[in-house]
Amino acid sequence: MMRMTVLASGSKGNSTVIASSKTRVLVDAGLSCRELLRRMAVAGEDPAKLDAILITHEHQDHIAGLTVLARRLKIPVFFTEPTHRAWVRMLTPRTTMTYAKWLDQMQREKEARTTVAADSAAHEVAAERDSAALVSGEADLEMEEGCDPEVDEAAPQRSDPAQLPAVEYFHAGTHFSIGDIAITPFTIPHDAADPCGFVFEAEGIRMALATDLGYMPPNVKAALKRIDVLLLESNHDLEMLRDGPYPWSVKQRVLSRVGHLSNEATAEFLEKDYDGGASWIVLGHLSESNNAPELALLSAEQALRGHPTLLGNRILLAGQTAPMAPIFL
Ligand SMILES: [Zn+2]
Ligand SMILES: [Zn+2]
Repeated sequence: MMRMTVLASGSKGNSTVIASSKTRVLVDAGLSCRELLRRMAVAGEDPAKLDAILITHEHQDHIAGLTVLARRLKIPVFFTEPTHRAWVRMLTPRTTMTYAKWLDQMQREKEARTTVAADSAAHEVAAERDSAALVSGEADLEMEEGCDPEVDEAAPQRSDPAQLPAVEYFHAGTHFSIGDIAITPFTIPHDAADPCGFVFEAEGIRMALATDLGYMPPNVKAALKRIDVLLLESNHDLEMLRDGPYPWSVKQRVLSRVGHLSNEATAEFLEKDYDGGASWIVLGHLSESNNAPELALLSAEQALRGHPTLLGNRILLAGQTAPMAPIFL
């Protein structure tokens, strides 16, 4: 028996539980820790039984609650190495400055040094205030995320926002396992460091997750064979996107080869390349501004007309405001 529980799917957050009878993994943690825990409770998923977190890519809607959730549950996080590096860089940004700004800063530092002797007491106060602000800022983050700060134990690491209980690397195209779930990550075309989709297999059942991809390349089509439950992106309706509120630059990004799958592209895949073998197809990562659930559904239904839909190819819609009921197979 396997289970898929979509806790959230969309640009405001993505997170899905994949479970066998023995193992449970969370794919992405794109909501706050507090909200993820709340949704797991609503969907009947016990967070204490999660074995690991897997990350598809480092965009905010996939990692927003990651640090706090992983620390709270004390479970390992699986990334590809480039995704992990990109995520660490995001959390610990290095400021780069122009030459003019650098000159300006040098000048100010020089001026400060000339007055430092007279002013040293004031400087100490300022430095203390700055470090206090830093510490309380981190505490705010933990509180905001809704998880215990674990002050004593975590204090030495809390200055490092990228500190996780454990990190494991996987490589796109290379199988690995967590407990009794066999996992095959595959590369997806998307504007992130090393984005991946996944096929999960346990007890003869296969589930797959493919969202955040600009188009359907051959390797993704090949990966999505013999899938029993497929979470597939159906991001936007081309016309709605074209006429919608996004600025032109954002429209270009969404439409690009490293953006998101349109209803039309998803329908084309379902009609021409999909093998028709799934029990459930879950349409996900629907845009709020540039799509309507009815349009995504209609488009997929039309595309699946050639496949039997009595016991197979049933379509569900994943949303971002509430978790879905678990899908058991
Ligand atoms: Zn996304
Ligand atoms: Zn993304």
